[in-house]
This record gives sequence, C-alpha cells and structure tokens, in this order.
Amino acid sequence: MRRVGKNSFTEVYFAGCNPSFVETSDGIVMIDSPQQPIDAVRWRERLEEKAPIRYLINTEPHLDHISGNAYFPKVEVIGHEKLKECFEDYLYAFGTVEERREAAKETDPDSVWLFGHPDYPPSHPPTTLFGDRMRLPLGNHSFEIIHMPGHTAPQTSVYVPEEGIVFTGDNVFYKCRSWLQECDPWEWLQALDSIRALDAEVIIPGHGEPCGKDYLTRQGEIVENWVGFVERFVERGVSAEEALQQPISVTRQDPYPIGQRLFQYDGMLTEMIVKNLHRRIRERKERAAAQ
Ligand SMILES: [Zn+2]
Repeated sequence: MRRVGKNSFTEVYFAGCNPSFVETSDGIVMIDSPQQPIDAVRWRERLEEKAPIRYLINTEPHLDHISGNAYFPKVEVIGHEKLKECFEDYLYAFGTVEERREAAKETDPDSVWLFGHPDYPPSHPPTTLFGDRMRLPLGNHSFEIIHMPGHTAPQTSVYVPEEGIVFTGDNVFYKCRSWLQECDPWEWLQALDSIRALDAEVIIPGHGEPCGKDYLTRQGEIVENWVGFVERFVERGVSAEEALQQPISVTRQDPYPIGQRLFQYDGMLTEMIVKNLHRRIRERKERAAAQ
C-alpha cells in the first residue's frame, strides 16, 4: 500500500488493477477492488482497521476492477448506469464461479476457498448510479465522479480536488501494454483531454505506477499509433483476418511490456485490438460517407 496523497493510497503490486482509496474524516472511499479474492479480504481488513469503508466506486466493467466487489458485501457500490447493465456479463465472461474456482487451483491456490464462499455472493454490482457525473461529498473531501468513455463505454474517472489526484482506471496504462480490445479510440483521446483539464497533479492509472499529466501525451500517442496502423489496412481494403496473417510489430505501436501476470494474453490481445479497431474505423468511414 503506497501513500500517493495526504489521505490517498494505492496498491500497484497486486495481480489485477491498482485498487485505491481515500480516507476522509467520515470514513473510506475505495476506487476499484482487488482481483484476487485473498488480496480482497486482506485489503478489506487492512482498510477497516483505519476507518469504516463507506463507498466503493468502480471505474469500469473489466474483471480486474469489479470481481473483488464480492468481498465488500456491506459496502455501497457506485458506478455508471451502463456499468450496472453489463456487470454480470463481464463478471461471468470467463466462466461460472465453480469454473473459476477450478481454474484458481492452478492460478491462485490461496484464494480457492473464497470462490463461492457463503459470506460473499459473487455479484455485487453498483446500486448508486450516475449518468454524466456525480458529486459525492464525504467528511472533509468531495469526490467528482465523471463519465469518461474510452477504454470501455462506462469508463469513469474519480477526481478528488482536496488531494490533487485523479483515479482514471484504464484510460491510463502507465508504461505497461495498453488494452484497446473494446475501446472507442476517439472517445479515449477526448477523455485524455478531459483528464488534462482537471486541476490534479497526480494520476493514478488503472495499471502501472502513479504518474503526472505529462504521460497523457504518451498515452494518446499509443492510441493514435494503433489507429493509424489499422487504418492503413482498412484503406487498402484488407480485412482484419488478412491483416492478422502478416507479421505485426506490437512494440512499434506500444513500446511497453505486458504486465501483471497477463503474459498469456499477449497474442490474443493484439488480435482483439486489430479486430476492434478495424471494425470501428470501418463503421466511422461508413457513417462519414453516408452524411
Ligand atoms: Zn484493468
């Protein structure tokens, strides 16, 4: 657990995202939950020793940000209205609880006993919902919870002016591979501008070390590199499948290594990125032509 502001903390060493929290004078507000169940229960006990946990805000629907919600059964969850709609689709995208428990015998043996544990119903979606933005005052802090679609459709940033910090989820990957497998790249670039406009010195990314605003330019370049790379195939009428037959230099688009035990997804990620961007660029061109 690392202090990143006067009352703000994050954890960059878990397998999964960077779960974070702010300790206000009236309890704790968490941002995302640890992915591995054993990390989630340890995180909860550690936080509860400091102060009661009041809220948990999810920044996106990917499993590495939401599956740990289950281990905070009494905490009110806040999320974008689109996140609520797709919560269970994502939660069970890699299998049922039983299937995940079986898989954990290989990948996460310390957590096996916590999958399907009666104290922890697996689905704990947001029940406090918002559209464009929501302000949450608590104790001596205020939380600006802002919809910033990009990496995913319900993508959310949490800006805490009193701390000079913004928690961006996966609209920022600091010096580790960016996941563009379902993003809208043009919305993502807009989101980076919106983050830049906030009066925050510290950015807590979804993955990688905390950083400053200067990195937003680098993050934007990575998104633009991928779009430019795939656009050349679309313009020549080359399908995504044909493009994937050719050798692809991932490091030319994104120089950073894939991190946090995600090595097994390396090739699959490239395939998903090319397919997603190919479809989105084609659709955008079709829309432009129809106007
Ligand atoms: Zn993530």
